[in-house]
Amino acid sequence: MEPRVSPGTVMPLAGRRLELARAAYREISLYAPDRSPCAIDLSDNTNLFGAPPAALVTVRETAESVVTRYPSLYTPDLKVALAAYARTDPAEIVTGCGSDDVLDSAIRAVTEPGDLIAMPDPSFAMIPIFARMNGLRSISIPLRPDLDIDADALLATGARVIYVCTPNNPTGTLAGIDAVHRIIDGAPGVVIIDEAYAEFAGDGFIADAPRHEHVLVVRTFSKAFGLAGLRIGYAAGNAALVAEVEKSRGPYKVNALAEGAAAAALTYDGEWVRRHIAEAIANRARLVTELQALGVIALPSQANFVLIPVAGAVAIAAALRRRGIAVRPMADLPLIGDALRISIGPWWMMEAFVERFRETLASASGPINPARRSP
Ligand code: PMP
Repeated sequence: MEPRVSPGTVMPLAGRRLELARAAYREISLYAPDRSPCAIDLSDNTNLFGAPPAALVTVRETAESVVTRYPSLYTPDLKVALAAYARTDPAEIVTGCGSDDVLDSAIRAVTEPGDLIAMPDPSFAMIPIFARMNGLRSISIPLRPDLDIDADALLATGARVIYVCTPNNPTGTLAGIDAVHRIIDGAPGVVIIDEAYAEFAGDGFIADAPRHEHVLVVRTFSKAFGLAGLRIGYAAGNAALVAEVEKSRGPYKVNALAEGAAAAALTYDGEWVRRHIAEAIANRARLVTELQALGVIALPSQANFVLIPVAGAVAIAAALRRRGIAVRPMADLPLIGDALRISIGPWWMMEAFVERFRETLASASGPINPARRSP
């Protein structure tokens, strides 16, 4: 008799079944951060102040026909609003299902399997995974001791794609303007600049991107704009390059609710977004000062999170979670060692974190000291 399998049960694949998939996929595991409910979640750098009001109204008042019909193919209305925001032309914008989708589509559009992509280390953890998903080889170039990107070493790879994230996840630090310009001027292929956190740092490179035929600047609605659940990202670049990324992305990738909410946020919620950026920046400075009083030195962040080097970060994060606070632990980062990444939110959340962190450090059995190796 066949064993009974209840609906929804996923049967484990026998080892040989893996041969049906791309060989490179064997090394990829599903993204699995701890998403179990937690009283205060400071682990994913989303907007802890909430969602912009006009965007929320747009979602709540969505007509039935918007839900039953397909969305627009390539979000023409949102591109118009984005072009005004980014000071580009609508033809120089491509959108996607989160900036993850835009990054993945861009990497696929400009490479052949086997090509090389170079990236700083540490940086956004999904890039080596997108590289593998698209059959690429990747090379990681450590940040310099001053935590800037190593432009010369990145260029020396001769990679088809150079990826730079500024402000960088997880360090929060900015790539130097000179270093980025050197990469733009010297890169043999395409330069992807990930500005997911740029709103917390100033202007960025987005308005400039279309002037270069080989530069794409990628941004998101998941951070400053508070719309992570709707999954909307975009990039600006030369119209010819953007058109290729759009082919790789495919039609209907941004759902109708997301398109409407993002356009509403750009049109009506500017003040809300700016106010909460300012509050995040102020709370970031205040948190850094409170941490200093505990003897913990945060890296100089320009984003809506801070990275604090501490030995035993994984154990500390687990202890904090038991006390109701989720943060993102990182183990053994190059140059930095173990570290905790903490999203910045309203001050009551920061206060609760500092209190629980103080308790956790005090009750730790082993020595927990700032672990930064250099400089
Ligand atoms: N780039 C960076 C640097 C990020 O930190 C993130 C999210 N953690 C993303 C891109 C992806 O964001 P999303 O897909 O939500 O737009």
